[in-house]
Amino acid sequence: MGSASSDYSQHVILFPFMSKGHTIPILHLAKLLLRRPHVTVTVVTTRANRSFIAKSLANTTASIIDIPFPQNVPEIGAGIESTDKLPSMSLYVPFTRATKLMQPDFERALEVLPRVSFMVSDGFLWWTLESAAKLGFPRFAFYGMGNYAQSVSRCVGENRLLAGPESDDELITVTGFPWIKITKNDFSPPFSEREPKGPEFELIMDQVISVSNSYGMIVNSFYELEPAFVDYWNRADKLKVSCVGPLCLGEVPRNEQDIHQKPAWIQWLDQKLEHGSSVLYVAFGSQADISPEQLKEMAKGLEESKVSFLWVIRKEASELEDGFEERVKERGIVVREWVDQREILTHQSVKGFLSHCGWNSVMESICAAVPILAWPIMAEQPLNARLIMEELKIGVRVETSNGSVRGFVKWKGLEKMVKELMEGEMGKESRKRVNEYSEMAKKAMEEEKGSSWRTLETIING
Ligand code: UDP
Ligand code: UDP
Repeated sequence: MGSASSDYSQHVILFPFMSKGHTIPILHLAKLLLRRPHVTVTVVTTRANRSFIAKSLANTTASIIDIPFPQNVPEIGAGIESTDKLPSMSLYVPFTRATKLMQPDFERALEVLPRVSFMVSDGFLWWTLESAAKLGFPRFAFYGMGNYAQSVSRCVGENRLLAGPESDDELITVTGFPWIKITKNDFSPPFSEREPKGPEFELIMDQVISVSNSYGMIVNSFYELEPAFVDYWNRADKLKVSCVGPLCLGEVPRNEQDIHQKPAWIQWLDQKLEHGSSVLYVAFGSQADISPEQLKEMAKGLEESKVSFLWVIRKEASELEDGFEERVKERGIVVREWVDQREILTHQSVKGFLSHCGWNSVMESICAAVPILAWPIMAEQPLNARLIMEELKIGVRVETSNGSVRGFVKWKGLEKMVKELMEGEMGKESRKRVNEYSEMAKKAMEEEKGSSWRTLETIING
C-alpha cells in the first residue's frame, strides 16, 4: 500500500466498534502506529464515545472525528451509543445493525480527509468494507478474537460439527485439530443450534463475509502464543491474518514516578504487598450479565476461600448481600468504578485473576504474568477458557455443579478452584507457564525486532 512517491507519510483511519472491549485495543493500536514518525492517525467514533477516546489519546497527535449515531432506532434508547450502555445484551444485534445508518455520514466525512493509506475497522462494522472500496483505500478488519477461537469456530462451522451430537456436553473432535475436543455448550445460540438461523446469525454471516473480502485481518495476539492456529488460518488461503499484539503493550506503562494520585484500590494493593499477601483480582469485563443467584454464590465462594481479593463489579450489577463487604473487609475490597485493569494486573501483589476470559483480559493477564481462573460467560469466552486450560496451561477453571462448561457455579466449586490457583500445584504450574508466555509477549512487541512489531511494519509499508 505504501505510495511509490516520495511522500512517505501514511495516514491511517481507525474505526473501533462502540464497546469498551473493542475500543481499548484499537486505541492501543493507535499509539503503536504513532510511534512511527511518518504515520498519522484519525480515529472515527460517535459523539457520546468521544470523551473516552479523547482521554485515552490525550498527549498524542491522533485526530478524532465523530459521526452522528442514528437516533430513532426503535429498540435503542436515545443517547445509547455504546453496547456497554445497553440495558440488555439481547439488544446487541439491533444496535450493531443500526450502525449501518452511519454509512452516508461516514463516507462524507472521509472524503474530505487527507489521502488515506488504509483503514482498520472493526469486524463488526461490516459495511465499512463497501465504504473503503468506494473511497479507494484498503480495509483491514480488526477482529477482537484470538486465533484459537477463530480457527476452531471456523472448523466447527465449515464441517457442521455441532449438527451431530444429541447431548450438549458430548465431546466432539475438531476436524483439523484432532487433539481438541469441544462441546455444543462451548458455543452460544444461534451457533449451537442444529440449523443456525435468525437475525444474529445473519448479522454474523454479513460480518464474516465482509471480513473475508477485506485486505487482511488484524488480530490482537502474537504468533508465538498460538502458532498452529495462525498457520492454519493463513494456510487456508482465504485471508491473511496479521498478529500485531499484545496491543496492551503498545501503551507505555504508567511510570512509577508519575505523581498521579493513586486510586484507593491501588493503595489497598500496596498495603497487601507490604503485608506479603497474595491478591486474587476478580473482574468480568465491561458487559457480562451475571444473574443475582450466581453473584450470590460468587460472593460466598470468595468469602469461604479466605484469600485476599479485589473484586471489580459493574455499577449496574445487582447489589451484594448486606454485610458481605463488612465481613470480608480485612482481606477483600469491592470496587464499583472504572479501573485501570492493567495497573491492577501488573501490581506486585496480584497473583491470580478470576476472569470471564474476554480476549483483552486474557492478553492483559498474560502480559502481566498472572495465571487465570477461568469462568467464561458468553460469546467465544468458553473457547478462550479451553485455550487457557488445555493449550497454554496458564490457568484453571471453576467447577460447575453439573460438570457442563455452561453450568451454574456453586460456591464450593469456586472456593476449591480459587485455592487451587492461589495455593495449589496447578496454580504453581500455571504461574510458571504464564511467566514464559509473558516474556514471549514482550519479545514479540520489541521495537524493530519482535514478530508483532515487524508484522505491523509490513502492513504500514505495504
Ligand atoms: N455516554 C452516553 N452514551 C454512550 C456512551 C457514553 O451518553 O453510549 C456518555 C456517558 O454517560 C458519560 C460520557 O458519555 O457521560 C462518557 O462515557 P464513558 O463510557 O466514557 O464513561 P462511563 O459513563 O461509562 O463511566
Ligand atoms: N476494563 C478496564 N476497567 C474496567 C473494566 C474493564 O480497564 O473497570 C478493560 C479491560 O482491561 C479490557 C476491557 O476493558 O481491556 C474489557 O475487555 P474484555 O475483552 O476483557 O471483556 P469485554 O468487556 O469485552 O467482555
